[in-house]
Amino acid sequence: MSENTQKSEEHEDVSLYQKLADRAAEAFQGGRRSLDEALKKAGEELTSGGEYTREQAEKVGEFLRRDIGEVGKKARQARDSVIEAVEPHRVAAGVQSGLSKLLRSAADVLTEIAGKSEQILDFKTGEVTSPGTLTCKECGKEMHFKTTVKIPPCPHCHKTKFRKSY
Ligand SMILES: [Zn+2]
Repeated sequence: MSENTQKSEEHEDVSLYQKLADRAAEAFQGGRRSLDEALKKAGEELTSGGEYTREQAEKVGEFLRRDIGEVGKKARQARDSVIEAVEPHRVAAGVQSGLSKLLRSAADVLTEIAGKSEQILDFKTGEVTSPGTLTCKECGKEMHFKTTVKIPPCPHCHKTKFRKSY
């Protein structure tokens, strides 16, 4: 794979993540009650035009669901600080508005998700995730991200598994 192909795939996944967050937030405002429903509707809208495949939308949708689930597990106060971390005024380009809107729209749903015991897998290189801190499980190196990113390998030991905090 050439470097250019990698770059464009990376960009595509990150922008799909942001579009899914936008559309899911809209679906909530349009009266959708559950996160599953909102994400399904968002995925259908984005794949119907042919710009993205079903597989892409499902894969990236899982990354988004995981980030939302992680936030849902937090106490109210901690949750607000995460939402603040993804607010547009903290990010020059304003590209986070979809996610912060979604997190606000989904406040009730977050509580519901928090109640479910859900196994959160490692955050791995190549996956897309919202702003936050990723700590390498191998060497403890921290990477801080202020925008949605496709996770790179650890810059210190080149391993690929991380845990996430905010
Ligand atoms: Zn490392």
